[in-house]
Amino acid sequence: MNIVLFGPPGAGKGTQSRLLTESRGLPQLSTGDMLRAAIAAGTDLGKQSKVIMDRGDLVPDHIVIGIIAERLDHPDCAMGAVFDGFPRTIAQAEALDRLLESRGKKIDVVIELKVDDDVLLRRSENRVQEMQAAGEAPRADDTPETLRNRLEVYYANTAPLIAYYNYQGKLRTVDGMASIPEVTRAIATILDHAAA
Ligand code: AMP
Repeated sequence: MNIVLFGPPGAGKGTQSRLLTESRGLPQLSTGDMLRAAIAAGTDLGKQSKVIMDRGDLVPDHIVIGIIAERLDHPDCAMGAVFDGFPRTIAQAEALDRLLESRGKKIDVVIELKVDDDVLLRRSENRVQEMQAAGEAPRADDTPETLRNRLEVYYANTAPLIAYYNYQGKLRTVDGMASIPEVTRAIATILDHAAA
């Protein structure tokens, strides 16, 4: 099953994707994690992406589409995958549909985690405080200032995907402000229905 987890930055996509990976045995395809790995490895791609990511802007479509295209051919994606933070633009969604179609596959379900902006900003402030208390540096793009830009980018470029996937009849919405176990349960119910 191919699942897209969709929602604003800090909605809990990463947490729920990791839990889905454990419960369903599907790989988590996080373009954010792949880009951070490229930065850590010091590749050209990483160097180009770091400035863009630190600002909270989107890395160009052709770069993330290329990363996903390559990743989809790994054997662990044969039974499907959990897409976390991809697609983020209509062009990426169209490319993903084409990439899957050419492999005889499709997106089965898109789960939107709905979280109000003030809750996202509060979560971000808490994370910064927690990391500072633990003596760790917060992610450069996870400060409340950058989050405001990431939210603007989300509404301008990514939110239009709600209509895109709704039109395809694939969109399901979950209250991302509920507790982590409640969100996990709501997602499990949706996936069990989709699989039936
Ligand atoms: P994330 O970890 O998903 O929150 O992504 C962190 C940052 O990586 C984003 O703010 C973007 O700068 C970049 N990024 C991750 N995924 C994508 C994507 N699908 N398209 C463009 N940029 C992305």
